[in-house]
Amino acid sequence: MIMDINDYLISDKLKTELTRVIAAGRLPHAIIIDNADESERMRLAVFLAAASLCENQGEKPCGLCRHCRKIMSGIHPDVNVFERESGKKEFSVKIVRGSITPAVYVKPNEADGRVCILKETQFMNSSAQNAFLKILEEPPNGVRFILLCDHALNMLETIRSRSTVYSMISSDSSDEEKTKEASDLAQKLAMSLMSHTEYDFMAATGVLEKDRELISLTVCELQKIFRNAVFIKNSKTDSSFSEAERMLAEKVSLSNLLRMIKNTDEFNSLLNKNANLNLLITRICSVLRQSVRG
Ligand SMILES: [Zn+2]
Repeated sequence: MIMDINDYLISDKLKTELTRVIAAGRLPHAIIIDNADESERMRLAVFLAAASLCENQGEKPCGLCRHCRKIMSGIHPDVNVFERESGKKEFSVKIVRGSITPAVYVKPNEADGRVCILKETQFMNSSAQNAFLKILEEPPNGVRFILLCDHALNMLETIRSRSTVYSMISSDSSDEEKTKEASDLAQKLAMSLMSHTEYDFMAATGVLEKDRELISLTVCELQKIFRNAVFIKNSKTDSSFSEAERMLAEKVSLSNLLRMIKNTDEFNSLLNKNANLNLLITRICSVLRQSVRG
């Protein structure tokens, strides 16, 4: 195969999932690709764009038809790539209103649909995200959106809930170690939230103080823990969950857990705004502690 799913940094589980949805013609209309570096995310986006527009009757993307070839060369008129203006820090609302909105309502030229790829969406400020949300809420027929982002949590909850997140495997193995480290830390932090002394929590956060990426990953992992606790509470099953998740489900009310999930969203947007790390960690600790108690 010229375009082979095995060439991408994704888990076997995601490979199976993508192969299944592509074969069934059920690729989601809004996709967030996260976790890997931007060039790896873009490679997968090109693959998915080709899978969307490929005219081969058999396996897609074939890599050989006119659509696949143009997409691979980056010259397909129905695949549009949007990114922040060069030299600009933010992916502004101007790009959304001035470029994306007009593009999505244009009928495709050559293919049966249109694919819009948005690069580095972690730089979309909230007005850009809200303007984009308007498009997602009433998506034009036949348009597929692929958002490339460092961590999906950097997108508004309202955008995430309307999208399917495909997390890649980070291309840098030290990143994998970091994710593991963040996951362990998040478990400790979650446990310490339920302890009576402030000490544990502060000790657990000591390692975080100088590492913005680790904080961001840890906040993502914390949110997963809180979400799992909500799941346990709602489903009344707790097998295969961690001790912290089970304890949170047992000891913290549903509304408090939901507030903690919201807290973690806010922390991630604060992190992007270059807030002072020490202050931010102190704030995370105290806000979460308050939320636990309700
Ligand atoms: Zn093709």
